Amino acid sequence: MKNPNIVILGAGYGGIMTTVKLQKALGVNEATITLVNKNDYHYQATWLHENAAGTRHHDDTRIPIRDVVNFSKVKFVQDSVVSINPDKKKVQLAYGELDYDILVVGLGFEAATFGIPGLEEHAFMINNINSARLLRDHLEYTFAKYHNEADHHEGRLNIVVGGGGFTGIEFVGELANRVPKLCREYDIDPAQVRIINVEGAPSIMPGFDPQLAEYAMNSLEARGVEFITGAMLKKCEADKIVYEKDGVQEEVPTLTTVWAAGVKANSIVENSGFTTNRGKVEVRDDMRAPDYDDVFVVGDCALIMDESTGRPYPPTAQIAIQEAELIAKNIKAMVRGEEMEPFEPDLKGTVASLGHNDAIGVIFDNTKIFGWKATVMKKVIDNRYLFKLGGIGLLLKKGKFNIFY
Ligand code: FAD
Ligand code: NAD
Repeated sequence: MKNPNIVILGAGYGGIMTTVKLQKALGVNEATITLVNKNDYHYQATWLHENAAGTRHHDDTRIPIRDVVNFSKVKFVQDSVVSINPDKKKVQLAYGELDYDILVVGLGFEAATFGIPGLEEHAFMINNINSARLLRDHLEYTFAKYHNEADHHEGRLNIVVGGGGFTGIEFVGELANRVPKLCREYDIDPAQVRIINVEGAPSIMPGFDPQLAEYAMNSLEARGVEFITGAMLKKCEADKIVYEKDGVQEEVPTLTTVWAAGVKANSIVENSGFTTNRGKVEVRDDMRAPDYDDVFVVGDCALIMDESTGRPYPPTAQIAIQEAELIAKNIKAMVRGEEMEPFEPDLKGTVASLGHNDAIGVIFDNTKIFGWKATVMKKVIDNRYLFKLGGIGLLLKKGKFNIFY
């Protein structure tokens, strides 16, 4: 293929890693590479629960694209993708249009609200820097407001988190660290504050190691988190939520509902005419879309079945990064007229934080870890990514070196 026009949409884990690998793999005369992203920064979505709780500033989480992408090799377009026309090989942006010869779709995830009434209008989400920053500010405002209202709203200090999967649990872990500090800062008795996690399954973290899920629950309960399990959140209003447990509907008054109960692919994918399965593109072995030889899909927009379970691999940064590395290799092969390789995930385990001082995980060959070992491992994973993306410079600038705390 002679000097193809390669366009990469989204600078999340998948998009930015594809770009960084491609800029090294291809010579400047071999292809034109364009990266399109809404913002002029990449953010680590895996740190957003910390930003949302206010335990870590969002500037730590975002990385200017120019720090990792070489603008003499890659053209960067800061714009929003509106739609893709794979038949005409065009991408519609808010402020323009792009043609491509090879496309990589890495537009990431959105919250899945399953049509539950009121969530879009009233719930906070942990989807990106904007939504995390809004939630952090709302929490601060809520605590500041408390002593400035004559009649306290009964739900003023109730924080309800819908979903006890990884995101919900990591977020309540951060809240357990943040709330005591907010109480001190705003002269509020901690006993007045409730952090309530509502999970639809009989126990939190369904599908994960049950012993470690129990460890997480005990650790968080000891720090004041309440769990309502086997309870489906049914409705969200401005001042309350409704959940259903054992066929009975109950209400919890709250001015702060956080929806962390699942994700779906960016809806642009489904709306752009690709064949989809659960809103995602079920990619071929080489990560290309089934109907288009010139479109690769990466990260949360792609679906790959795990043959050992018969279910799709869960959408994670870990798999997005590995897919991106393979996509960069396969694009290089395509440009040079060589054979492409199939994607073979090499999953190294899962580690979830429970605040800054506790964590749980299953790593490598099913080794269970918890407490300080898991806390250290979580930071090692984060630091390893920074090193992979931007070398020692980025690691030193953004790394988590408070290793035991
Ligand atoms: P994203 O990281 O979502 O990136 C998408 C990019 O596209 C963003 O830069 C966005 O700005 C851009 N974009 C979106 N729409 C447009 C548009 N219309 N136009 C232009 N640009 C656009 N996974 C793990 O493996 N380990 C973890 O510990 C972990 N922790 C997590 C913690 C939290 C709180 C959350 C929410 C998720 C976590 N995940 C974790 C999952 C992981 O973050 C996602 O699987 C991963 O971010 C997917 O990467 P991606 O590249 O597909 O998309
Ligand atoms: P998830 O799908 O993993 O969990 C959602 C949870 O919400 C489930 O436990 C589900 O039972 C519950 N739920 C759904 N509807 C509900 C309702 N109406 N009421 C109450 N509970 C309800 O989604 P997530 O936690 O947002 O994670 C998204 C992806 O990101 C997953 O693939 C996850 O593995 C990944 N992630 C990984 C990590 C990590 O590795 N440390 C951290 C966060 C997220």
